Amino acid sequence: MDYFLTEEQKEIQALTRKIAEEKVLPVRAELDEKEEFPREILNILGETGLSGVYIPKEYGGFGGGIFDFCLVIEQLSRICSAVAVSYACNGLGSYPIIMFGTEEQKKKYLPDIASGKKLAAFGLTEPNAGSDAGGIQTTARRDGNYYILNGTKQWITNGGEADIYVVIALTDKSRGPRGASAFILEKGMEGFTFGKKEKKLGIRASATCSLFFDDCKVPKENLLGKEGMGFLITMKNLDKSRPGIGAQAVGLAQGALEESIKYARERHQFNKPIISFQAVQHILADMATQIEAARALVYSVARYIDTNPREISKEASMAKVFASDVAMKVTTDAVQIFGGYGYMREYPVEKMMRDAKILQIYEGTNQIQRNVIGLYLNKEYARKGK
Ligand SMILES: Cc1cc2nc3c(=O)[nH]c(=O)nc-3n(C[C@H](O)[C@H](O)[C@H](O)COP(=O)(O)OP(=O)(O)OC[C@H]3O[C@@H](n4cnc5c(N)ncnc54)[C@H](O)[C@@H]3O)c2cc1C
Repeated sequence: MDYFLTEEQKEIQALTRKIAEEKVLPVRAELDEKEEFPREILNILGETGLSGVYIPKEYGGFGGGIFDFCLVIEQLSRICSAVAVSYACNGLGSYPIIMFGTEEQKKKYLPDIASGKKLAAFGLTEPNAGSDAGGIQTTARRDGNYYILNGTKQWITNGGEADIYVVIALTDKSRGPRGASAFILEKGMEGFTFGKKEKKLGIRASATCSLFFDDCKVPKENLLGKEGMGFLITMKNLDKSRPGIGAQAVGLAQGALEESIKYARERHQFNKPIISFQAVQHILADMATQIEAARALVYSVARYIDTNPREISKEASMAKVFASDVAMKVTTDAVQIFGGYGYMREYPVEKMMRDAKILQIYEGTNQIQRNVIGLYLNKEYARKGK
């Protein structure tokens, strides 16, 4: 399919594809096996300017939009979803600053993220607050020129590896979610420490850990927006980021399809390549069709968001939920096409199936995405006065 990319977008896509094939492919199994953070690859993405693809030009970036960002994520994920999420998470940690930061905050933090010198992360989830993010308990108490943070964030992507963290904490406990605020934290701040690196089912090369705040002193200048804006910032951030999960899903599924076609042409049973069996062709046909539908939706949503419409939550959730369900189905089917070999670590589809599952869970589970879509359908219908 031709998605009518601009020359610049074709270049971004081709450059990422080259890096993914030349630098990521040779090491992806090893990174997964050793659960090793892909620092060198992220450095290359920084050096080539891809880290700043979505960051405005005045802060050292390329000045692209969500769509450009999605093109990079998709190509990385086609080879390794763990590398893709380690890269994509920078967006999750940067968009709050891009959207709500003061000029000073933007100048201080964005250029280093754009150049790949520093990595970013976003801390919302806590041990007792996942889907119900309104239940967070981390507090931020104003004390002179500082806010004092206490609490724990859990399962934070790029945790420990990132230098810059946007963290959500309650400045006014009595107001619940309306009392939440967003802060920019830096690694090394007093009272800010990390938990152990989590051992995961998939995306094993990515870093996931807890953040601990023990009377952590954050300068008052590091408040993002105003007190009480924490949840608004969170929701706007997730709206921008969810199409990226969709792109991660499309890339992963595409990688699994390509491996499956290659294998089905090589593997012989009953004196024939297994691709000659119509049952196998039908599985491949469904995989390819579903991926194209997911890609078309993710691209349309990303392009739509880049036109700056007022409301994007429903569309962002649709891109995330549809593409991640497709990735789970396609990678499971890929293992089926490989038969017993697909279950073995020597072949890439085993990792791909493990990597797919998280796409249905993080940045809001797919049940929560369906809740969001349902909520907006109801709202839109009510608005029409019916
Ligand atoms: C590898 C990994 C990386 C992550 N990275 C980050 C990160 O960088 N930053 C961050 O802040 N968080 C991160 N998370 C957290 C992630 O976003 C949460 O795990 C996710 O939002 C779900 O929360 P939970 O795990 O507590 O599940 P729960 O909320 O406990 O949900 C359990 C089950 O109940 C269902 N459920 C709950 N409420 C409802 C409802 N109202 N309607 C229907 N079903 C419901 C869920 O869909 C799910 O199936 C990460 C998690 C993982 C595993």
